[in-house]
Amino acid sequence: MNVLVAGGAGYIGSHAVKQLIEAGHRVVAVDNLYRGHSQAVHPQATFREIDLADMQSLVDVLAENKIDCVMHFAALAYVGESVADPLSYYENNTAGTISLLKAMDTTGVKRLVFSSTCATYGEPETTPIVETMRQEPISPYGWSKWCVERVLKDYAAADKEFAFVSLRYFNVAGCATDGSLGEDHDPETHLIPVVLQTALGRREKVTVFGTDYPTPDGTCIRDYIHVEDLCTAHITAMEALRPGDGRFYNLGIGRGYSVREVIDSARRITGIDIPVEYGKRRPGDPAVLFADAGKIQHELGWSARYTGIDQIVATAWRWFEKHPNGYTD
Ligand code: UDP
Repeated sequence: MNVLVAGGAGYIGSHAVKQLIEAGHRVVAVDNLYRGHSQAVHPQATFREIDLADMQSLVDVLAENKIDCVMHFAALAYVGESVADPLSYYENNTAGTISLLKAMDTTGVKRLVFSSTCATYGEPETTPIVETMRQEPISPYGWSKWCVERVLKDYAAADKEFAFVSLRYFNVAGCATDGSLGEDHDPETHLIPVVLQTALGRREKVTVFGTDYPTPDGTCIRDYIHVEDLCTAHITAMEALRPGDGRFYNLGIGRGYSVREVIDSARRITGIDIPVEYGKRRPGDPAVLFADAGKIQHELGWSARYTGIDQIVATAWRWFEKHPNGYTD
């Protein structure tokens, strides 16, 4: 298929581009390079620097490349930042997607794989989280993605040829197994990169955000899914799409690890006694989030290959050790 990857220079998008190419698809990667790295784009992909707000350029690139399907990763994705600057989140994530959908509508591109998030569930009533659970986001980031899901449902109802799948990610982690691609965010706030940057001496210590949660060791529990498993799910979902589909799937491994377990894993993998301080809770962090990933397994036969935290941290460490300062662009 001819696939346009929006956000193809970002952490997850760049891994998706690589896997799509390895699976024999033709890929056009689009990114505004606000947070992405052109170096991360696979050399066999065509790269175009385009912002999603620029609908005309999107129309041109979709038409020129006879695109069959769009995978859309381009978004701002920090909960805290979204609270401080909600307009940028609605502008980039919600309005940006509408611009992309209009360009797809104009050019007759009928398939979309959308990056959604478990943040659309907000504070869950129970875990594991199933797709039918009430969605009540607790951050502008979560709402900005929730709004897109709403738009997709309405658009699909109006255009029976259109097909979409919305994938609700849990905590995406790890790096390409072959060491070729990594995770380089600025600012970096995610636990595993923060812990590994501390191991490298780029940070003095890791602050554990809260030790008084109602969990066995008092720290928050999250479902860490390896980025390559996540990308495989995208390709599986894309290939399964049929006109009129509107699918929603959780993407997680179906079990959680605590912050302390992640830090212990990183100490084992790196062999470094990573310095830790115990701090206050970070506002907006639910105690426990993990997926019931049974729906996508049952319907599409996908399940995660990486289920142990050590395996996931090891792939991240492979890249961080070789690229202590991240990408060079
Ligand atoms: N966390 C932490 N210290 C850090 C970064 C994260 O204790 O420096 C915790 C955070 O409170 C959450 C978990 O690690 O419980 C995962 O956080 P991350 O920011 O990686 O992802 P999120 O779950 O917020 O999407």
